[in-house]
Amino acid sequence: MSKAKILLIEDDPLQAKHVRTVLESAGHEVVLAETGAAGFRLARTERVGLILLDVVLPDFSGQQVCQWMKRDETTASIPIIMLTAKSSIEDKVAGLQMGADDYLPKPFNEQELLARIQAGLRTKTLQDQLRGKNDQLENLLRDVEQKAITDALTGLFNRRHFNELLDREFSRAKRFNDPLACLMLDIDNFKSINDTYGHPTGDSVLSEVATILKQTLRLIEVAARYGGEEFVLLLPKTKPREAGKPATRIIESVATHHFKGLPPDKVVTVSIGISGLPDPLIAMKENLIQCADFALYRAKRGGKNRFEISTGSELEKNPI
Ligand code: GH3
Ligand code: MG
Ligand code: MG
Ligand code: MG
Repeated sequence: MSKAKILLIEDDPLQAKHVRTVLESAGHEVVLAETGAAGFRLARTERVGLILLDVVLPDFSGQQVCQWMKRDETTASIPIIMLTAKSSIEDKVAGLQMGADDYLPKPFNEQELLARIQAGLRTKTLQDQLRGKNDQLENLLRDVEQKAITDALTGLFNRRHFNELLDREFSRAKRFNDPLACLMLDIDNFKSINDTYGHPTGDSVLSEVATILKQTLRLIEVAARYGGEEFVLLLPKTKPREAGKPATRIIESVATHHFKGLPPDKVVTVSIGISGLPDPLIAMKENLIQCADFALYRAKRGGKNRFEISTGSELEKNPI
């Protein structure tokens, strides 16, 4: 038999005394309330395992109190057994409709009262276990969902998720004729970093560049790893020309950062290509990426460690 702290809401002192004796002799702890309001208050603060609720109380009806308990998040899961002198079908139905878990007409048999308390406690334990399992499952699911959209090395969004976000941001910007800047970023001479300092050091450079991106652009909504040593950023409500400022900030932050595993005087640089809306020639989201790529290519050819801006007119010179 499990023992519990039981809240007894009962205004009749004789009845209360009797029930208390029965419960305590079975090993339960009893908290007594003489009104519905006091009972509700205790139910919220006393961490009780079960409630025995009289139907006729001086302030509110047991049904009313039952309804509050079941609507309140802190008390909703506590099993309630209604105790009443009335045993009319209507009273039972009303109590059950308000969410009571069980019903026991007075005068009750002591063995039956104790047996019903056991049953209520057992159900509660099972429900709690189930809720615990559900929470675990939800956390697991959240974790899996998070992993599915994240690049494991850098913690940024992965390319697949980026494509979904691009879809959404592009349509939104087009619909409202809002600006939207796209920055394609590529680490310069990254292959030589790998070749000279080893692949694991290359990995840590990638993740440090990602950290710089997160820190430099607190307000950006989308930063993703696009491929090997390429990153892509979306800046909603930013015109391509305005994106030059954050691009410069990134370029300078990377060039002045000391990367772990590299000699102190080793400078790592990045090149950035910028494209954006509004631009009547950029009709599809793919065009936005292409244009950023064109600009990135020019930044590389122009000596790296810099940014370039492209417009949709470049699409005509470089058709798909
Ligand atoms: P550029 O300045 O023209 O961009 O030259 P680059 O050397 O950076 O470009 P290239 O495309 O020649 O080399 C990219 C290298 O990035 C080759 C590849 O091995 C490396 N790489 C791609 N993904 C990863 C990764 O996850 N970890 C590490 N350590 N290296 C990677
Ligand atoms: Mg390259
Ligand atoms: Mg590169
Ligand atoms: Mg590359």
